[in-house]
Amino acid sequence: MCSHDCPDSCGVLVTVDQMSGRAVKVQGDPAHPVTRGFLCGKVAKYLDRVYSPDRLLYPMRRRAGAPKGPVGYRSVQGREADAFERISWAEALDNIAARLTKIAAEFGPESVLPYSYAGTIGQLGYGSMDRRFFYRLGASQLDRTICSTAGGAALTSVYGIKLGTAPQDFAHAGLIIAWGANIHGNNIHLWPFIEEARRRGARLVVIDPYRTRTAALADEHLAINPGTDAALALGMMHVILSAGLEDCEYVERCTTGFQELRAHALKAEHMPERVAAITGIPADTIVRLARAYALAGRAGNNGGLQDSGPATIRLNYGIQRSENGGTAARAVCMLPLLTGAWRYKGGGLQLSTSGSFPFNTNALQMPELMLASPLGRVARVVNMSQLGQALTSLGNDPADGPPVKALFVYNSNPAAIAPNQNDVLRGMRREDLFTVVHEQFFTDTADYADVLLPAPTFLETKDVQGAYGHLFAQVNEQAIAPLGEARSNVALFGELGQRMGFEEKCFLDRDDELIDQALDTRHPWFAGMTRERLEREGHVALQLPVDSEGQTLPFSAVEWFRTPSGRGELTPMPVFFAPMESRAHAAEGAYPLEFLPRKADNFMNSTFANLEGHRKMEARTAGVLEMHATDAAARAIVTGDAVEVFNARGRLALKALVNAQVSVGVVAGRLDWNKLSDGGGNVNALTSETLTDIGGGPTFYSTLVEVRKAQAG
Ligand code: SF4
Repeated sequence: MCSHDCPDSCGVLVTVDQMSGRAVKVQGDPAHPVTRGFLCGKVAKYLDRVYSPDRLLYPMRRRAGAPKGPVGYRSVQGREADAFERISWAEALDNIAARLTKIAAEFGPESVLPYSYAGTIGQLGYGSMDRRFFYRLGASQLDRTICSTAGGAALTSVYGIKLGTAPQDFAHAGLIIAWGANIHGNNIHLWPFIEEARRRGARLVVIDPYRTRTAALADEHLAINPGTDAALALGMMHVILSAGLEDCEYVERCTTGFQELRAHALKAEHMPERVAAITGIPADTIVRLARAYALAGRAGNNGGLQDSGPATIRLNYGIQRSENGGTAARAVCMLPLLTGAWRYKGGGLQLSTSGSFPFNTNALQMPELMLASPLGRVARVVNMSQLGQALTSLGNDPADGPPVKALFVYNSNPAAIAPNQNDVLRGMRREDLFTVVHEQFFTDTADYADVLLPAPTFLETKDVQGAYGHLFAQVNEQAIAPLGEARSNVALFGELGQRMGFEEKCFLDRDDELIDQALDTRHPWFAGMTRERLEREGHVALQLPVDSEGQTLPFSAVEWFRTPSGRGELTPMPVFFAPMESRAHAAEGAYPLEFLPRKADNFMNSTFANLEGHRKMEARTAGVLEMHATDAAARAIVTGDAVEVFNARGRLALKALVNAQVSVGVVAGRLDWNKLSDGGGNVNALTSETLTDIGGGPTFYSTLVEVRKAQAG
């Protein structure tokens, strides 16, 4: 299975030459019911990554006197190693154990900060032995918020569980709304099901401030103003409830809080004309969309609208990365509860299905080890979306605990992906910060390491995994031996735990034992889910409930809800507020343009960005700022001009690309590696550490900037 951070979790077949032990072919597994034998453009070329000459293959330590940070910008690949010298694993582990022990003794164990995210989403690689290690050490806990916590909190607050419409069922939908979801770019295995629905007459509507590939291929693209999705959802509710188009029977049977939400949604501020002024979507379009949404699939309610199947929403995490983002996700999640779309095959909503996999994470991660640490208590929590603050000012107030003195990075590249990059890099440059990085490549973060450790790809490890875009558990068999001296997270942290003198037997566990522990649950959805069966069959479907007709229809009945009330919760009411960093508050200010720090379709955040083949696929947006002709003309800018994009946090040098991908008032730049960009910074030089309204997530899409033509010379 592919373990990259992607909803699809593809089944993968790897052909290995038995003589050399080398993987010679990577292809999709045709037997996989969802991913059905093809891979995305990122992973179809995976052997370029596995066998890249730039792979980190040996442990290294920074040479005495070599300054932290990149050796230069552009064409630096291959020269980074000059700052390091090769050492053995034994030396590396001894060095790390000694430094962590000393730092913990001097400043307290919470001065050690792990930093990881979803470089792999396998259960073992994402969070198992690493968590045991840091819990036992008494290190600060990391709140892993960088991607999805606002949306996750939103979905859970309404449904009690992260679960949704199965991708295969999208083929039965009559109206599909891709809301902040670039399906063609980063959820490609849903696309054939959508195409199947469209062949039967379904319409695809995309709501996105950027004209993505998905938007360009849709029946209709609604270019919403960034950060205003909650207003649109409330406007749709207003139309639906004014016209009495809610499904009264379903609402009565499966929800709570309806009357309060109804009174709120019917307020004048949610009328289509008012919502149009906020979202930039015309009032008649809002009315048409809301009516089509409510009526889709309902027998006898044709009225010139689609009735070939129910409505479903593919919501993705784009909308929750703004100051009002959690509320926006909550409001959208409530729509199918009003219309009863969950009752029909192909209806409903999908944001994430990850909560439907009942892995025994407590057994894997053992949080009780915190009590056996020198702290003897639960350690403090540091939000990963505020790494800049953590590295530059945490500890200034003794009440917050000690400063961060050791940073241990794995499964992530914070120097590129964390917001407010200038503070992050200022922190990482600190000479008194001991930094360990476990990586496959010389990333922007690796340039700041004191000790650098080689990590394997998913072809070189064994793991078990669910998915956040489908409902099959899978096992990943190790296809090839780790390249060079690469070691998995399990091996690294198990051995480091022993080096630190942790005597608990759990630090001796190996892959198979951990997989067995992850599957050790009595949860009925995992009935019959054993390692042996997964090894035999590759993927195994969850045992989800079926109705009297043998259909699995999430949230079609109260038994599906996991909320405190046991129903879909329509309160507290979602309240739209315009982000402080938005045109609504600062149209006349120093930074009047809303900035979209976009992800490239053919990268995975910053992963893959260093590979030539992937860069070629993304050449269109390399080093450019996309802007609307009106904004460009107002600044005497034309395509190809060197421009400076700036705000109070930082500045970027890019080239203007004037096009229709963005609306007036919005500009867009693409995430890249810093050192592969002119001037050595990326879009996160401009983003802030402000957190979302719920879930403590980052607000990448609440960013204001100004743009000017760069001065010649
Ligand atoms: S990145 Fe996603 S779509 Fe691509 S191979 Fe991996 S799981 Fe499949």
